[in-house]
Amino acid sequence: MKKLENKVAVVTGGNSGIGLATAKLFAEQGAKVAITGRNKATIDNAVFEIGNAAIGVVSDVSDIKNIDKTYRTVKDTFGKIDVLVVNAGVYISAPLADYTEEMFDQTSDINFKGVFFSIQKALPYLNDGSSIIITASTVAYKGFAGAAAYSATKAAVRSLARTLSAELLDRKIRVNVLSPGPIDTPIFGRDGELKEEVDTKKEFLASIVPVKRLGSSEEMAEGFLYLASDDSKFMVGGELLLDGGVATL
Ligand code: NAD
Repeated sequence: MKKLENKVAVVTGGNSGIGLATAKLFAEQGAKVAITGRNKATIDNAVFEIGNAAIGVVSDVSDIKNIDKTYRTVKDTFGKIDVLVVNAGVYISAPLADYTEEMFDQTSDINFKGVFFSIQKALPYLNDGSSIIITASTVAYKGFAGAAAYSATKAAVRSLARTLSAELLDRKIRVNVLSPGPIDTPIFGRDGELKEEVDTKKEFLASIVPVKRLGSSEEMAEGFLYLASDDSKFMVGGELLLDGGVATL
């Protein structure tokens, strides 16, 4: 029995990394999936990879006005929304002294404001009993030099999940968080670093994970599947840490 048979899921940032692996697994498990992102070409490629269960919608989560239209497109196509994975995010890092207002605003607009309004604007479209999952990060648990603004946005969305769970209880909408540790995705290298620099960064990150490796997007997707499906129906306002022990050991 597939775990998401007859379900409709939206995955923000579903055109790359963790979001793409999640959208693929959801489709394999019987869901219709709408993926969003900013780049039409990568969305089209991702939809092709996922297959006929998927549609792609170009939608910037920091452009609040366009979010409602995105959900309307999904509802017009698939008739309902049962699962919302609020996953789109950016990692913009620099030492505190070098962090510009522009870097701060981008980080905050996508990772916090974008999450808040992606959930708010989904409310009229979500079925009662839906599952909302927010991608946070273990850096919200543990300090990580250069990631002050990023970590703060991820801590903010952990808090959001608990408050919104209480607020949405009457509709039986569950809001949970998945916090990945360092995962091997294209998020590293988006600052335009050379491949060798990205490799060095990943090697360092792997060395600080207790199990001495980065996680994979597919391992994260298994966690999202658990939180999306009825397997986790007693989990409300909770957090799943998939991090090779980085936050706790
Ligand atoms: P990624 O760069 O491969 O994916 C990020 C996705 O977000 C992309 O699909 C991108 O198109 C989308 N996105 C970025 N800005 C957007 C915007 N304004 N509007 C719509 N979409 C936007 O990286 P990833 O590692 O797969 O990241 C997915 C999530 O996981 C992010 O929230 C990230 O913060 C979080 N995370 C990643 C790691 C890691 O080590 N890779 C660790 C902890 C948390």
